[in-house]
Amino acid sequence: MENSKELRSWLDDMKLSHPLVIAGPCSAETEGQVLSIAHELKDTDVNYYRAGIWKPRTRPGNFEGVGAIGLNWLKKVKEETGLKTATEVANKNHVDLALEHDVDLLWIGARSTVSPFIVQEIADALEGTDKIVLIKNPVNPDLSLWLGAVERLSKANITKLGVIHRGFSTYEKTKYRNIPEWQMAIELQTKFPDLPLINDPSHISGNREMIFDISQTALDLNFDGLMIETHHDPDNAWSDAAQQVTPKRLVQIMEDLKIRKETDEEAEYNQKISNLRTQIDIIDNQLIDTLGKRMKVSDGIGELKRQRNVAVLQTNRWNEILGKMILEGESKGLSEEFVLRMFKAIHQESINHQEKIINAETLKK
Ligand code: PEP
Ligand code: MN
Repeated sequence: MENSKELRSWLDDMKLSHPLVIAGPCSAETEGQVLSIAHELKDTDVNYYRAGIWKPRTRPGNFEGVGAIGLNWLKKVKEETGLKTATEVANKNHVDLALEHDVDLLWIGARSTVSPFIVQEIADALEGTDKIVLIKNPVNPDLSLWLGAVERLSKANITKLGVIHRGFSTYEKTKYRNIPEWQMAIELQTKFPDLPLINDPSHISGNREMIFDISQTALDLNFDGLMIETHHDPDNAWSDAAQQVTPKRLVQIMEDLKIRKETDEEAEYNQKISNLRTQIDIIDNQLIDTLGKRMKVSDGIGELKRQRNVAVLQTNRWNEILGKMILEGESKGLSEEFVLRMFKAIHQESINHQEKIINAETLKK
């Protein structure tokens, strides 16, 4: 993407005084629902009104979208409210219909970005249009797959491109529906500073309580915009009910978010430091999470030792770990003294955990 300068200009050209906002329901359900939400979003900061027409559900049997009829409702939204419109396309037929109905912004969903065949089909169908096209990250954290999709669209002469970070699937349950990989978004920005980067806190969180914090983190990391699912009656939405917010709540979120400006030197400093601090906060959370996981494994070992009546402290094993970690730490610029202190603390916590497990057995006897 040699022409990455060109990529950003569509967003710069909009000369927004705030991050780009794309909001609207997960799915278009009825004409009344689509229009009523749109009217509530009309005089807000919302720039694009989103609604899924074709819904790619992970398992069949759920609501799969109203289909092409919903495009007429989006047209009405534009006529009645002046809001520009956005929808997801997942094949050539969707693209043709969306273009026919003059949808302003098209996005490629996470389940499509994983398939180079589908992405190429969409890119070919879009060739020659000047619509804005946003590419969601693939469901798995694979930066090349994501960039590959951007390149396919770029090769089809789509210049108004952008990407959406909507988080990644994990086998393990986490507090997120789709875990954010902020470092990947940072890497993407570093490589392509001119590629607009949008955050989708709705699909990252899976619940409306976390939307604000995720949005703030995204803005602190210089994201250019937000896509937030908004519904007039979220609890009764036909898809993604738990994560949608009301238009009123959306306005409140936009009001409360701290938007950093990039104007004078001091602002630049503040932006840089807050960006770094956000990264530190994310890493600290990961550290605690990892330590918690380590203790769980250690509990498992404690349980085994209890069953076999083996001593908690295994000196040889412990010395082996220490030696390895000191070397590992050295290669990452960590002093031996620090690694020793840290691992002694971790080891002590492990011993405390295992002691508890073994003593529980003594009490039972
Ligand atoms: C959506 O935006 O409603 C959607 C289906 O998103 P994703 O592709 O991120 O799952
Ligand atoms: Mn959704």
